[in-house]
Amino acid sequence: MGEYDLVCQTGGEVFEDGYDFSCPSGHKGLLRARYREKRFAPRGCAGLFKFYDWLPVRSSYETESCPVVFRSERLSKELGLRDLWVGLTGYYPERNCKSISCSFKEMEAYPTYARFRDMGGKTLVLASAGNTARAFAQVSAETGGRCVMMVPESSVGRLTVTEPSDSITAIAVKGDYADAIAVADRVAGFDGFLPEGGARNIARRDGMGTVMLQFAQTAGRIPDSYFQAVGSGTGGISAWEASLRLIGDGGFGDRLPRLHLSQNLPFVPMARAWNAGRREMVPEDYAGGDVSQVYADVLTNRRPPYAVDGGVFDAMSACGGSFSEITNAEAKSAEKMWLQCENALPDPAASVALASLVRAVGEGLVSEGECVLLNMTGAGRDRVREDYDMVEISPKAVLEPDAADDELRSILDV
Ligand SMILES: [Zn+2]
Repeated sequence: MGEYDLVCQTGGEVFEDGYDFSCPSGHKGLLRARYREKRFAPRGCAGLFKFYDWLPVRSSYETESCPVVFRSERLSKELGLRDLWVGLTGYYPERNCKSISCSFKEMEAYPTYARFRDMGGKTLVLASAGNTARAFAQVSAETGGRCVMMVPESSVGRLTVTEPSDSITAIAVKGDYADAIAVADRVAGFDGFLPEGGARNIARRDGMGTVMLQFAQTAGRIPDSYFQAVGSGTGGISAWEASLRLIGDGGFGDRLPRLHLSQNLPFVPMARAWNAGRREMVPEDYAGGDVSQVYADVLTNRRPPYAVDGGVFDAMSACGGSFSEITNAEAKSAEKMWLQCENALPDPAASVALASLVRAVGEGLVSEGECVLLNMTGAGRDRVREDYDMVEISPKAVLEPDAADDELRSILDV
């Protein structure tokens, strides 16, 4: 047996990691890693692999990239909170934040490539044009982990890295994001290729959970309240799972943090389902959810792991908390507030998280003295451009969505 087992969140069975994304018994619930090491004992290195014992990997990479936890004196004063901490993943040298792709998705990418290397060097397949693609491209360039990215043709040019790399193959797909996903699904079925797995990938979830671990290392405790804006909600699940591990250590008390999750109007399906007290999501939750009107468009996931065992509903039920629906105006006003306090442009999603904290303070959901962790999931794209020459990744081919498998194989040399 390895250093961790997997536990099915539907049936509770425990088994060895066969690198599947689903339970061998066919249950639909998420799998969760159960680490042999119960003590929280970060290693002495920089970068997120200091949390190696609680990442589902055997390989690791040297990197400085890690969430950074700090107190923003100005923001605390602005909000009237005495024990506010910011967890930031991004590029912000003054605060020692060195995640070049400027997004917490980088914390998902590193352990995912390590896990793919553990599996014998499979090629990762994903469809994205946003933060996820940028993070997985950057980490591919740094680690040599191979990836194939399907990008909607309209988004070509948005994919940039600090250094070009042979390990990345980008393919532009004519059509929209759904067309890119459909092609990615086909490529992921080829021998030697695997999908990145989304919320079902324990490496992504436990990588995302490192912000909670970094908080525990810095502040020596579990926060009373945790704020994050969510698209798939996986960040909420990760915060819950990381907190459970900290509780299992025995030195951090036994109280889970309250989860204050947020989405951006008009696309707020999970917030609606939760606030209506439903485990099931219904079509009305998506009604009026025009994604083109959403400031933080990375928050517009259409198939979030909400109802699934071990998913967002279970995380919220275990932790308590709130799910807020934030307007674009609130997000933009929070962005301004952040920029008056700190010198790195936040991602729109991070601004939504801050807006939800502003609102919670206003509504008295958070008290002046409670320990709050605000997860700023991305920042510093303005700053990284000052320090690095970004290289655009040009697509190897431009394809129709119905391109034949043979054509795909020949582009990928398989
Ligand atoms: Zn099962």
